[in-house]
Amino acid sequence: MKSLKENFHKAHIVIIGSGIIGKFNALELSELGFRITIIDPAEQKNSSNAALGLLMGNMYQKRRGRSWDLRKQSIELWPRWIECLKKFNYELNIQKPLIQLTTNEEKFKKLEKFIYENNDLNLQILERDSIIIKNINNAFQTKNIKGMISFKDGRINAISLLNTLDKYLKNKKINFVNEEIIKIRKSKNQWISTTKNKRDIQSDIVILCNSLKAVDLIDNLSHNIKLKPVLGQAIEVSINETEVDLLKLPKQFNINGKNIFPISKNKLIIGSTDEYSTKPEKNIFEKVTNFLDKKPTWLMKGQVTKKWFGVRSRPEGEASPIMKNLGDGLILCTGFYKNGFLLAPACSQWVANEIKNYFS
Ligand SMILES: Cc1cc2nc3c(=O)[nH]c(=O)nc-3n(C[C@H](O)[C@H](O)[C@H](O)COP(=O)(O)OP(=O)(O)OC[C@H]3O[C@@H](n4cnc5c(N)ncnc54)[C@H](O)[C@@H]3O)c2cc1C
Repeated sequence: MKSLKENFHKAHIVIIGSGIIGKFNALELSELGFRITIIDPAEQKNSSNAALGLLMGNMYQKRRGRSWDLRKQSIELWPRWIECLKKFNYELNIQKPLIQLTTNEEKFKKLEKFIYENNDLNLQILERDSIIIKNINNAFQTKNIKGMISFKDGRINAISLLNTLDKYLKNKKINFVNEEIIKIRKSKNQWISTTKNKRDIQSDIVILCNSLKAVDLIDNLSHNIKLKPVLGQAIEVSINETEVDLLKLPKQFNINGKNIFPISKNKLIIGSTDEYSTKPEKNIFEKVTNFLDKKPTWLMKGQVTKKWFGVRSRPEGEASPIMKNLGDGLILCTGFYKNGFLLAPACSQWVANEIKNYFS
């Protein structure tokens, strides 16, 4: 890496994959003054474009270990990035709070214990007699929903964030190549990324942010990295607005694992991100709306007005995400089957630190 040390600001970094992880790495590294090229043939079709944008960090119930550290760092970094990105989209913000609900008494007891033990002022239990819970129980025609509220967690509009990142990267004159990389190799101190159209792109460093396909580009026998596809689905449902006023409900909440966002008086988005198949369900409405013993009548009669899905990569045999410096200027940042949006700031900071080490 001697030549790199001498050429910090001249160094060229290729980022393969332009989902939230590739774009965030480009953001972080462009701030450090590197020359950057992002390569992606199909960025509009990736899983980042399907995401619901939940930033669910502080309510994570295991407050130790790598996963918590990444969440904690990201929660702290997000406000700084929002301020920076606001120059390109003044409406960009994280809509807070976030509410997590359950009808399961045992799970609720766990939530109570978690809040009691952590004594975190940003988390509160929502009992059955709170106004929020009363409204939710009324709307969902049930009596046994309870949960917690987190004032530090929330939701960002995923598409708006991706578009804002594009504007930022364009302004920073980041080079974008609309092609697929089929091979990477090292030759004479340089990485050569070869596109499907046989074009060679040279760089000092390569960062693999191409989700499932990252394993195709590395010598997998020596690195032994396994990634499995995981589906996530979401629907927009239109309902008869005389039966319930969706605008009386919180803007983002989760009941028994399903994420729910009322977006107008008669429309809501429901998303499910925990599905271990790869093909979208035919009867997605049934699958996504079955989160209570009995469906409220207005939801039963609801019409699906939009549906979408995304396929993410889940590491097998190791924790998500996979962040590895494979040495010699090759870095892997993949395996974000969940929480890619939440964790993007902490993970790209990790990558930037690894790259800074090459020059120190
Ligand atoms: C329905 C749904 C809801 C979700 N909700 C949330 C949420 O609320 N909060 C949250 O934090 N996360 C959420 N997620 C998860 C989140 O979407 C992922 O964690 C995140 O998008 C992963 O980003 P990525 O950049 O790693 O992958 P991707 O967005 O999939 O990007 C990978 C890119 O690599 C490109 N690529 C692949 N191979 C090559 C190649 N050979 N050469 C060049 N480019 C290549 C692809 O074209 C693609 O654009 C959700 C996901 C789904 C599906």
